[in-house]
Amino acid sequence: MRYRHLEKTNDDFSLLGYGCMRFPKKNGRIDMEESEKHIIHAIENGVNYFDTAYTYGGHEKALGSILSKGYRDKVKIATKLPIPNLKKREDIDKIFNIQLERLQTDYIDYYLIHGLSSFQQWEDLKSLGILEFIKEEQEKGRIINIGFSAHTNLVNFKKIVDDYNWDVAMIQYNYIDENYQAGTDGLNYAHSKGLGIIVMEPLRGGMLVDKLPKEAQKIFKDYKIKRSSAEWGFRWLADNPKINVVLSGMSTTEQLEENLKIFSNHQASSLSDEEKQIYKDVKDIFKSKLKVDCTGCGYCLPCPSNVDIPTCFSYYNDKAIFGSLMANIMYFVSTLENNSPAKNCTACGVCVNKCPQNIPIVDEIKKVSKKMDIWILRQITKIVIKIIF
Ligand code: SF4
Ligand code: SF4
Repeated sequence: MRYRHLEKTNDDFSLLGYGCMRFPKKNGRIDMEESEKHIIHAIENGVNYFDTAYTYGGHEKALGSILSKGYRDKVKIATKLPIPNLKKREDIDKIFNIQLERLQTDYIDYYLIHGLSSFQQWEDLKSLGILEFIKEEQEKGRIINIGFSAHTNLVNFKKIVDDYNWDVAMIQYNYIDENYQAGTDGLNYAHSKGLGIIVMEPLRGGMLVDKLPKEAQKIFKDYKIKRSSAEWGFRWLADNPKINVVLSGMSTTEQLEENLKIFSNHQASSLSDEEKQIYKDVKDIFKSKLKVDCTGCGYCLPCPSNVDIPTCFSYYNDKAIFGSLMANIMYFVSTLENNSPAKNCTACGVCVNKCPQNIPIVDEIKKVSKKMDIWILRQITKIVIKIIF
């Protein structure tokens, strides 16, 4: 296993992190026997970072139960505070205590604010007393390091990074998401401030495996060294020395074995020019399928009607590339919290001249609204969010 040191916390992270959201299942429930085998095998092969969250079904509890069998001190546990559940400071304390109990531990190595979708959300959390909570729990030794995960545009991401003395940031990142949300600029920015970088969605929830366009599959397939699409995706990330951990949810033994091999073998900055060209060719195929060539820079913001323009464009593009219903759902989830969907656009034109890509934003946002603002799907998403949280 390769390890990446983080100066700020003096920790050595296994480059492969275990994403505890998809443990093996049997009859619709977590298969504890199989999960235990997996986790122990991963630990014995050097994996030392386990990422879970309050909202990942029974996964915190399952992880706690497995690690309590003599493995707690061999790993770092990262778990996350869910934002939608929080109405007052006591809610934070209550959730945190439940998490400690579920995980059967006295301390959390990396405690992350889960899924910040705007800077305002962070401001709201501060009003609830999150800073006092962190300070108190760090003094008690129950939180060791602090971080956040984010699904927001680059401008918001940088503001969040600058607003607190974070230890780590978790971002969505993979070879087609260099300009998506925080993207490469956000990654470099957070790294330059000393934060550790934890990568989620390294294969875009499996889309870079299952939904890879045929032309892209062919490029990988024709290369002289035979590798799976997953390996191509992981190697691109492992090559970046600024990344500390790449999370992968591994629900089969084959996936675990393949990942252990990749993250043990690949050295940082070792991709050949030929391999870099392969990624470029594949990315060009994705690019040719984009509806709007938005880089996610956020220069067009703020919008007086609160439209999150880059987020709208990114899910619109996802829909065009992957044709998946997931793009609609993610669009709703992302725009619901801050009431920032494309349908809010009043065509005021404030954004137009700010775009360095000269995107006709007003026309394009109208198209996004037509394709993505589907009333019935929005209602279903609202109900699902209510049930989950
Ligand atoms: S044209 Fe639409 S998206 Fe652009 S600033 Fe005005 S309301 Fe916002
Ligand atoms: S629409 Fe233009 S300015 Fe706005 S995020 Fe995209 S590229 Fe940047």
